[in-house]
Amino acid sequence: VRILLTGAYVYVGGDSSEPEGEGKGDAERFGPQGDAAALAGDDGWIYGYLYVRDTRIAAVAPGDPPPELRAEAERVLFLGGRLVLPGLVNTHTHTPMTLLRGMGEGRPLKAWLEEEMWPREARFTDASVYWGTRLAQLEMIQSGVTTFNDMYDRMHLVLEAVGESGLRAVLGRGVIGLAPKDVQDAKLREAVEFARTAHGAYGGRVRAMIAPHAPYTVPEPLLVRMVEAAEELDLPVHIHVSETKEEVERCRERTGMRPVEYLDALGVFRRPTLAVHAVHLSEAEKDLLAARGVRVSHNPVSNLKLGSGVADVPGLLARGVIVGLGTDGAASNNRQDIFHELTTAALLHKGIRHEAEVLPPPEAFALATRMGARALFLEDIGALRTGWKADLIVLDAANARYVPRTDLLAHVVYNALPADVTHVMVDGRFLMEEREVLTLDAERILYEAEREAQRLR
Ligand SMILES: [Zn+2]
Repeated sequence: VRILLTGAYVYVGGDSSEPEGEGKGDAERFGPQGDAAALAGDDGWIYGYLYVRDTRIAAVAPGDPPPELRAEAERVLFLGGRLVLPGLVNTHTHTPMTLLRGMGEGRPLKAWLEEEMWPREARFTDASVYWGTRLAQLEMIQSGVTTFNDMYDRMHLVLEAVGESGLRAVLGRGVIGLAPKDVQDAKLREAVEFARTAHGAYGGRVRAMIAPHAPYTVPEPLLVRMVEAAEELDLPVHIHVSETKEEVERCRERTGMRPVEYLDALGVFRRPTLAVHAVHLSEAEKDLLAARGVRVSHNPVSNLKLGSGVADVPGLLARGVIVGLGTDGAASNNRQDIFHELTTAALLHKGIRHEAEVLPPPEAFALATRMGARALFLEDIGALRTGWKADLIVLDAANARYVPRTDLLAHVVYNALPADVTHVMVDGRFLMEEREVLTLDAERILYEAEREAQRLR
């Protein structure tokens, strides 16, 4: 692959807190980076070109590309002032649950899970997961997501769909352990076997995690065994933590500890861990997450919709915790759209804190890109830098929401919509061009997913 993108506004800013940048001020931390940085404005943008060779970015610079790159390129796309951005990272979802979109509306988490979701999910077949995950992956490509992190069962079908869609994915067989010992054993075996198969699949496009569902759905002995398995496989742990107040109370009654303290006492955080939600935390728990290097998936829309609350993201970021943005499943969102999470997060914390300075556009955008990738323990993904993976999106900014061109990144954070996305590239391969998804059969997916959902109703 040799693709040259020219005539574009390319965003080369991002979170530069790693590896040597710890302790930098915000301007330095989220300003321009990489070898194009010296040539970029303070706002992190250049007007120029980006060159992709095989799966990686081979050059990114302002101005016209040198003649030798033009000569070498197999394709030259003149983008006419469109925006080139790193692809968005969805740090937490359950892709097959798109089939349950719009079902069980308006119920709080416990009743929603136990009375609306679990009975319907019990009727899921291979076909449900097959079409549900394709529906989600189609929506993610159309809305500029290039990497997603999924926790569910029948994950071999999700893996197969990732092979087809071309998306980058981190996958884990989600384990709910409220079952007899033999069922628990079988699930654990499946989780381990799946991780072995998935990790490194499709030329390294897929990574695996070990995914115990939550401290309240996985009995202690099973949770400990899952962490041991993660240790053996050298994989991170992906777990829901402290989503609701009620969950925290029940954990305290049962263990005498709050969920983060409990997981720490069990030794879970000896593994690299992604804690999902982290809504109800004590100050001591926030310190503990920072001290253990635990990453957090912030899912503002899902948490708002289920009435769970709002995670203290500014408080976590101030402690140096790496935070990404997740949609959660489509039944509780109802989109698989990281632009929506980005806009929501950027507004929400200003309102909660009564501080307009909180989560400025460069920091908010980092949550959706580079920090999101770091939350999933992915290197060289989430920013447009020479030598990094060519995971990027193109936005058409020729519409009212981007005029005047005062602060382009603010326009992206507050105004961008999935419909603005024209191209999506992962690993140097276009998954969508001029809004046409190339890897999935969109029409067929919409039809089959609708039919499969009728059966579950
Ligand atoms: Zn979830």
